[in-house]
Amino acid sequence: MSDGLPKLGNANRAAWIVAIVLISTTLAMIVSWRAPGLNLYVRDRLMQARGPISPPDDIVIIAVDEASIARYGRFPWPRSLTTRALDTIASAQPKAIAIDILYTESTSETEDAALADSIKRAGNAVVAAQLIEIADEKGLPGTRWLHPIPQIENAAAGVGHVNVSTEADGTARELSLRKSDDQGKALWSIALETIRAGEGIRGASVRDVPGAVVLGSRMIPIMPDIPNVSFASRDINSRTDTSRPDRMTIDYVGPPGSFSHQTFGFAEVLDGGVTPQSFRGKYVLVGATAATLGDHVASPFVHAEGASGEQHGELMPGVEVLANSVNTILRSRFYHEAPEWLVILLAALVAAAVVGLLAIAQGRFETLKQLTVLFGLLAIIIGVSYLAFTRWLFSPPLVPALLSFGVAAPLALLRRSLLTSADLDKRIAELAAANELSFLSTPGQTGPDINPNPATLIAHLIAAKTIGIYLLDKKDRGYRLLASHGAEAVPRLSETEVETAASLRPSDSSSNEAEEPSINRKRASDPERSRESQITSRCLVLRNNDNQPSGVLMIKDAPEFEATVETLRLCVEISRSVVNNVDDQLRFRSIRWHLPRGVEWKAHALGVLNRRLLSRARFVDRALRAVDDGLIIADIGGRIAFANPRAAEILDIPQRAVVGSDLFHQLNNLQSQKGSAERKGDHVAREMLMRSVVGRAPVERQIMVGNPPRYYTLRLSAVTSGHDETAPVLGLVAALSDVTQQHELEQMKTDVMTLVSHELLTPLTAIQGMSEVLSQFDVPDDRRREMHLTINDEAKRLAHMISEYLDITKLESGTHGLRLAPLRMVPLIERVLLLLEPLAAQRNIRIARDLAPSLPPIMADADLIAQALTNLVANAIKYSPLDTEIVIRAHAAGNALLVTVKDHGCGIPANVLPHIFEKFYRVPRLEDADVQGTGLGLTLVREIVELHGGHITVESELGIGSSFSVSLPLPTTEA
Ligand code: ADP
Repeated sequence: MSDGLPKLGNANRAAWIVAIVLISTTLAMIVSWRAPGLNLYVRDRLMQARGPISPPDDIVIIAVDEASIARYGRFPWPRSLTTRALDTIASAQPKAIAIDILYTESTSETEDAALADSIKRAGNAVVAAQLIEIADEKGLPGTRWLHPIPQIENAAAGVGHVNVSTEADGTARELSLRKSDDQGKALWSIALETIRAGEGIRGASVRDVPGAVVLGSRMIPIMPDIPNVSFASRDINSRTDTSRPDRMTIDYVGPPGSFSHQTFGFAEVLDGGVTPQSFRGKYVLVGATAATLGDHVASPFVHAEGASGEQHGELMPGVEVLANSVNTILRSRFYHEAPEWLVILLAALVAAAVVGLLAIAQGRFETLKQLTVLFGLLAIIIGVSYLAFTRWLFSPPLVPALLSFGVAAPLALLRRSLLTSADLDKRIAELAAANELSFLSTPGQTGPDINPNPATLIAHLIAAKTIGIYLLDKKDRGYRLLASHGAEAVPRLSETEVETAASLRPSDSSSNEAEEPSINRKRASDPERSRESQITSRCLVLRNNDNQPSGVLMIKDAPEFEATVETLRLCVEISRSVVNNVDDQLRFRSIRWHLPRGVEWKAHALGVLNRRLLSRARFVDRALRAVDDGLIIADIGGRIAFANPRAAEILDIPQRAVVGSDLFHQLNNLQSQKGSAERKGDHVAREMLMRSVVGRAPVERQIMVGNPPRYYTLRLSAVTSGHDETAPVLGLVAALSDVTQQHELEQMKTDVMTLVSHELLTPLTAIQGMSEVLSQFDVPDDRRREMHLTINDEAKRLAHMISEYLDITKLESGTHGLRLAPLRMVPLIERVLLLLEPLAAQRNIRIARDLAPSLPPIMADADLIAQALTNLVANAIKYSPLDTEIVIRAHAAGNALLVTVKDHGCGIPANVLPHIFEKFYRVPRLEDADVQGTGLGLTLVREIVELHGGHITVESELGIGSSFSVSLPLPTTEA
């Protein structure tokens, strides 16, 4: 199934793309066929954008201009004027002369003959004929040629028609190379005839071939796609009355006046103001330019703009159109049209490019990317079209391309928004279907027995017989049953029923459920009610997140119960979750749809799901915070994303500072606290990381934090995205469980084992051995006495050791309550010394006192302090050689009272100094062979001092002596 889905998706996608391309191409082609004016407009625009190109030097216009008319009077002039001008021109040996003036009627015999002679002399002069519309004898419209008078026609090197073909908008874009009248009498265009005459080509050499007209060595392509029209057509439209519409696109050099540097007035020529050089070897075109003579047409450089289509640019005189036509043929500036199949293909390509580019432009800055690709494509289409038009004289199918672009872009965007919308619906449906995201099971799934019905759960919690969870139905102004336990739950509750039930105990309806238990207690103490052991009916109003009532929890037939605040809260919380989730659930039931849903629905659905997820997240968050263990969750990079308050407490950093910090930095800190000077923390943390991330095995470490130390088990495990071992690691969870108590128990067990196995067993064996010898053998008296003494000594030592051990254990476990009382240190020291001085005297050791007078009293347990001092002084005596001195000093230092016992004894090696306060530790020293001890004395001292909030320090130098200092806090004097 998973294989099939992407294939289906791809097929779907391809279908969409094909549909968009087809629709865009079809629409583009239909519009461009139906509105050919668009193509013409675009072509004009391209020509205007191209602008004027440099005009040719070999075309000269002799203009019947305003100045000449002013000079010689109204047109037509006497033909003698033309004869003179023609002679002047012809004498300069131009290539050909085209006379764009009609000589269809005779004037005076001599003038006509003179003109015919002049034309004949020139040898290369072409005269004009015109096709006119005329009604025949039956009144039917027809066409007829207006020929020049035969004299002139015969003298001329050729006769060409001067009909200018204009489009519907009056613009002359094309030249009809040949025109024919109704009878099929055809004449070539005067432009063609002029070139023919100029190049000395025979008339017969001009002929039609498929797609072109042959003029000597030139091929003039004609516009394709225009059907041949029968020359017998009665159509009077000048554009469709030809046999074969041999039409050629005129490439205009520029707007009217582009030939002005090569244009001379008639008068100028007659006055001899133009050098013959100006005509030599050139095409001389004689025609009217004066506005008063008419014969002006619009060129593509004229364009209509504005609301009422105002015309911009001047009209062009016919002779200038002729000049442009001649130039087009001479320079072979023929525009090629794209064949229809290529136009369709290009339109389809543009549509495909739009769809493709929009599919690529996704992700970040999507709108920007889409705009960029769309405008980029548009620029490319226009740019390439412009280049094609100006450089390669190719008439681009810009209209179909732009239309295709304009249709495909919105369609592609629409497709994407539809797909995204449908996808969003799917995601919403997935989220909606994810039941495990709701806080508790939803009522939609509640089965009678197997599934935990929330009502049943509540019933068990408060031992009620009937429980009903109702949802507020706003439309119905009542409450609908969602989940029930027991037979008596009614399917509907009216608002009044709920109000009465709630008003029995006003505080029931408040959201403050904390008051509930007190009410129960009140009821229980009511003697009358306490006999009746059932609460009949009660109602708790459930509120949603906005604190608005959303349902009720109905409890019936519950026994008097001592429900705790928590139990009631839990019941209300469960009911609230049911009520607030069912609201969402119902609306998601009809998830099967095909068309994407509306944006508003989506926003609403997402809002509901959001709330559900948030409540779930809040629940999880609270649960994690409530855990008694320290919990740290970090991402794979080790950045701590979550730490519960307990973790912050253990790390001894504010919670806010933990989140965002580095997990391994924190673990290193813990580790190095443990190992004091040892800097292997880094190593340990790295190893833990390796084992948990690479080995995927939870790693456990015991760590010790703070002073007094607390012990924790640090458990580091990797969070993976799946259950199997290869699933990628998403993050790390570190759990810190306090195991101080277990650690202490372990320690005690070890101590007892040491005590029993070493310290007790050895003397006991000695006692047993000696008592056996004494009982079984006859031992001499002095030996017997000695043995008795030893047994006594060992037994005393044992008793001493056990009592000392018990003392320490009691102090450690906190069962020895301190009996604090004001205590003056100096008298206490004196009392201790009173007992110990005889012992010192035995070894000839002097005890010196340096006790500060009027030391303030402290709050302390006198017996324990005395015991601690006794141990210190006894040690000083025990571990000092004969004839030495011990100094006891007591003075106040800052906020503490300092008691120092300094001896001149053997001293303690520096390397064992840290161990002397450990239980059972004794410095292994030959000198101490005869000194009895347990190794518990100093442990007891430290325990006592620390219990009083003080501390003990030691300084010692081998062979010089030791100095033990006890610092006890002085009571703070209140101001
Ligand atoms: P013990 O019962 O052996 O004296 P303690 O806990 O009192 O046990 O002392 C631990 C060890 O510390 C002793 O075994 C001894 O070696 C050393 N020690 C204690 N006090 C002194 C001292 N004043 N001078 C030298 N060594 C001392």
